[in-house]
Amino acid sequence: MNRRDYLRSTLGGFAFIGTAGLGSALSAPSSPSAGKTAALSGSAGMASFAGNHNHPAEYELPQLAYSYDALEPHIDAQTMELHHSIHHQSYVNGLNNALAKLAEAREKNDFALVKHWSKEVGFHGAGHFLHAVFWDVMSPDGGGEPEDADLVRAINASFGSFEKFKAHYIAASSAVEASGWGILAWEPFHDRLLVFQAEKHQNLSPMVTVPLLPIDVWEHAYYLRYQNRRGDYVRAFMNVVDWDAVARRFHEARRMLG
Ligand code: MN
Repeated sequence: MNRRDYLRSTLGGFAFIGTAGLGSALSAPSSPSAGKTAALSGSAGMASFAGNHNHPAEYELPQLAYSYDALEPHIDAQTMELHHSIHHQSYVNGLNNALAKLAEAREKNDFALVKHWSKEVGFHGAGHFLHAVFWDVMSPDGGGEPEDADLVRAINASFGSFEKFKAHYIAASSAVEASGWGILAWEPFHDRLLVFQAEKHQNLSPMVTVPLLPIDVWEHAYYLRYQNRRGDYVRAFMNVVDWDAVARRFHEARRMLG
């Protein structure tokens, strides 16, 4: 996808600007029907805009590049299966439903419920895209520290050191109020990295940043194994972080938008 196509698919489609928007278009996994896996990048996660302009293709649940039990013991198989096949699927369904309702609204020229369905697009859209990235940045071979020189340099410049980043990221993710995400993101205007919290999927997120490393801290992401010990789960997550995938996302984001 070239830059123009990228911008069109990102900005010209729906208002997924925010943590979900740019990042999802960069590296969310493609749909299974596209024959790709969660490990691949591309326009992904975004439905095709070919065909009927009022009814773009539906979003689909991305396949994982690893099995549900592959991240044991850090993340258990039952949690992974429920999380991917039930929870993530519900965001995909909710997003498609909201978009269909908005297509209907355009057809009827009746926007009485546009506020409701727009909020649904924000919630389920961010939910879908963040989960897609979340699966993509985990690996049974993960953990440790990034090796990519540019990513290491960016982390050092933005946070002081990898250790300081890690402490900040773990603290922020552990302290998200109620349900949400801790997110390492790239901010394109000044080419720097930020750590922030997203409540639910979409609140409190700096707009137009590209999520590089989101961790899901909704209870469904950890409660079976970790119960109330979210911090333990966050620290365990660091053992499955696929830093090569994070570095790939970082380079793609800079290439497209830098
Ligand atoms: Mn989740």
